[in-house]
Amino acid sequence: MKPKVAFYWCAAGGGCEEMVVDLAEGILDVVAAVDIVLWPVAMDFKKADIEAMEDGSIAVAFINGAVRTTEQEEWAHLLRRKSQAVIAVGACAQMGGIPGLANFSNRAGVFQTVYRDAPSTLNAEGVLPETTHQDNGFTLTLPRFFDTVKALDQVIDVDYTIPGCPPTPQLLSDAVSALLAGKLPAKGTVLAPDQALCMDCPRKDTKPERLAISEFKRPHQVLIDQEKCILAQGLLCLGPATRSGCGSRCIEGNMPCTGCFGPTSRVRDYGGKVLSAIAGSADSNDEAEIARILDKIPDPAGTFYRYSLPVSELQRKRL
Ligand code: SF4
Ligand code: SF4
Repeated sequence: MKPKVAFYWCAAGGGCEEMVVDLAEGILDVVAAVDIVLWPVAMDFKKADIEAMEDGSIAVAFINGAVRTTEQEEWAHLLRRKSQAVIAVGACAQMGGIPGLANFSNRAGVFQTVYRDAPSTLNAEGVLPETTHQDNGFTLTLPRFFDTVKALDQVIDVDYTIPGCPPTPQLLSDAVSALLAGKLPAKGTVLAPDQALCMDCPRKDTKPERLAISEFKRPHQVLIDQEKCILAQGLLCLGPATRSGCGSRCIEGNMPCTGCFGPTSRVRDYGGKVLSAIAGSADSNDEAEIARILDKIPDPAGTFYRYSLPVSELQRKRL
């Protein structure tokens, strides 16, 4: 009997599913070693198939995406019940991710923007989604959309986390290998190195001991030197506060790190940590000058809490 494995997709952009496909021919090894019993993006399993399985009969469920609808919440609880281990995959499942930025608004605000105000929306009657709709004697239903987006471990008990937006195929295949060998680490472990990205960044030797930034710039405003520390060039690289394990993907592409691997275990609030690190790097002791330097950072809340608002101390905007 091969161990049974499930993949599920909640509120996310789809990159974590790409990660599975990016295993390339490695997916054949996975399929040979495990029995995939659920993978809605690729195979036609039904909810009833999972409901009919014995509790605990799935060895591990890999769940990506945040939880923002009743349907996702129901699936999370169902897979928790049916699985011996649940692994949160990707920044959205781990921290709320980009969908979690909706916590700066609420359901009414999101619907207003998406279904009425967006320039590409054609909706002259201003119709909004309903949870039930009667038509020709039939009742149609849709899941309810929550006011607040949650990370997976705010809804169910999670055993492990694979970070990233998306995680690398290597992290996934390492997790599957550890599972097959019965060598998964202690519950609660984030399955990536517990050190800051700067530690294995190819440009780390050019990062000054003390940063002194007199002007923050955005990537489209400058030609980024391909050899030097990006943060030292005045671009917001969040590597000092971000967990390593991605292979410095963005740095290798000459772009700053935006923090998708989240914090190391020593950081409680990722956004607060990075905010204090960046604010402390302003090259001035004069309050007005520091304010001028920091003013160049567009959308600080969205920048520093880009992936982690739902699990932060803020959690959401009070409306
Ligand atoms: S701040 Fe960015 S570019 Fe500089 S060493 Fe750290 S990860 Fe590399
Ligand atoms: S460099 Fe930063 S944003 Fe880019 S993949 Fe790595 S952790 Fe994510």
